[in-house]
Amino acid sequence: MNDVIFDRVALIGLGLIAGSMSLAMRRAGVAREITGYARSQATRDTAREIGLVDRVCDSAAAAAEGADLVVLAVPVGAMGAVAAEIAPVLKPGAVVTDVGSVKRSVLEAVLPQIPEGVQFVGSHPMAGTEHSGPRSGFAELFDNRWCLIVPPEQADEGEVRRLEAFWAALGATTERMDPDHHDIVCAVVSHVPHLIAYTMVGVADDLRRVTDQEVIKFSAAGFRDFTRIAASDPTMWRDVFLTNKDAALEILGRFTEELFALQRAIRTGDGDTLHDYFTRTRAIRRGII
Ligand code: NAD
Repeated sequence: MNDVIFDRVALIGLGLIAGSMSLAMRRAGVAREITGYARSQATRDTAREIGLVDRVCDSAAAAAEGADLVVLAVPVGAMGAVAAEIAPVLKPGAVVTDVGSVKRSVLEAVLPQIPEGVQFVGSHPMAGTEHSGPRSGFAELFDNRWCLIVPPEQADEGEVRRLEAFWAALGATTERMDPDHHDIVCAVVSHVPHLIAYTMVGVADDLRRVTDQEVIKFSAAGFRDFTRIAASDPTMWRDVFLTNKDAALEILGRFTEELFALQRAIRTGDGDTLHDYFTRTRAIRRGII
């Protein structure tokens, strides 16, 4: 058990990430009371039923009032509106963080709403599954995963450290990152791979119309492994691409160039190019644990 790091924690949004945070906070004993709010009545009912947090509230403001840490765990496109809703009730000395998968746009949407005397520091736990909703969380989600910490320029060093200690207690390893660097890194390692997985499922389904044959039914292990992430929440991923447009387009452009080069090698029967490419990338992939 750890010491209490934030007396009262409010979770706005009660899905995979917030739910896992609540369970991990209880496991670590780092909060005395956890309140929560989600927009949908059905989610709030489920959260109450399974006791996901100590107190489910009927508004974001009611959950955030008096909290020492407020976590914005809603889709990235909703962060600004939620921050505006809770701003009037934030207590002086409180810390607000978000867990969004994109950082520059969240910083720009949330920071202007934060009142004086309250600190905003971004977080991005690099952990997830293809599941969503209040029943999908589990206490181990953040164990041995990175949590990227994105402090605004004027952030208070003591509060940034407190947030880092909080994530460490939840099992994560933290590293600080600048928002623009964060967004390009995540475009490569997470956002564009999701887009490609979604596309691959679309292509396989499309083929059914051409061949009049079920294709996905016969999907092999490779296809299943590769496309698992295409079962992820559509609202979350719509918002990621709308808010990380530049970085996603930059990485997609590079990806298409590589794909065209391989397409040309296949067309011209250039086995050396294919073999060299696969040898190089296999070595890199094998180095990733
Ligand atoms: P989720 O779909 O499981 O949960 C989202 C929750 O937000 C739901 O409870 C929903 O009711 C609530 N919600 C939606 N709009 C709202 C609004 N306007 N006001 C209040 N509540 C609202 O999603 P999740 O996977 O927990 O993702 C939450 C955040 O975490 C997103 O910003 C996402 O980018 C980020 N994130 C997700 C993953 C992942 O792999 N799932 C990983 C890291 C970060």
